[in-house]
Amino acid sequence: MLRITNLGKSYGSARVLSGIDLDVQPHDVVAIIGPSGSGKSTLLKCINFLERYDEGEVRFGDELVGYVEANGQRRLATERQTNRLRAEMGMVFQNFNLFPHMTTLQNVIEGPIQVKGVARDEAVRHAEQLLAKVGLADKRDVRPTKLSGGQQQRAAIARALAMRPRLMLFDEPTSALDPELVGEVLTAMRELAAEGMTMVIVTHEMSFARDVASRVVFMEGGRIVEEGPPGKIFTNPDNARTRAFLARVL
Ligand code: ADP
Ligand code: MG
Repeated sequence: MLRITNLGKSYGSARVLSGIDLDVQPHDVVAIIGPSGSGKSTLLKCINFLERYDEGEVRFGDELVGYVEANGQRRLATERQTNRLRAEMGMVFQNFNLFPHMTTLQNVIEGPIQVKGVARDEAVRHAEQLLAKVGLADKRDVRPTKLSGGQQQRAAIARALAMRPRLMLFDEPTSALDPELVGEVLTAMRELAAEGMTMVIVTHEMSFARDVASRVVFMEGGRIVEEGPPGKIFTNPDNARTRAFLARVL
């Protein structure tokens, strides 16, 4: 579903990602862990081209993300081409990013109606199903400012799912939450994983990663240092730096 090959990115002279290779198969749940500043967010943003990468490639299905190839040359894709791929990758950020002037329901139906041209009735029907699924059926007409952080994040997940994405990207979805609200968001994500959604999740929730991920990727200094099944990474990692990181956070 997603194939990242020798991905590299710099901000000016600062090299942020180097030689990243990562394959994501349908139904994979990949947890990305690593210290602050290791390039986790930048990697997620390169996957959906919110950030431009300058080396290597990201392929989503058969398609190159962000660029168009012709006659052995690569040029930047148009905004329209990139948006078409982006619409199939749901993204959930640390800070919810809901539209404050819209109700929960309006937040969820906006993308399908505006971007995909879904009929309003159908968008509303689907949104109601998704809000019920994340436990927010009774919040449909409430504005995000009236919701708790956990409810806002569940609304953000429903909004991303409304686009019927093939892949979901999460960037520390519980990091901004009060501790007592983390569980409800992780539960929604766990259910999504159980339904077979393909997910790439940057997280500091190690027990969640251990339970839910099919694969764990440890990043440091803009590189993938080690990856493997959670049973291996969390109990017997090969790399000393992985061990040192886990010793600090577990
Ligand atoms: P992580 O998510 O693992 O904490 P990031 O991907 O946010 O790491 O950042 C990786 C590195 O790239 C850091 O050194 C950060 O300071 C730098 N960086 C991130 N975004 C930018 C930007 N827009 N401009 C310049 N440097 C950036
Ligand atoms: Mg980050």
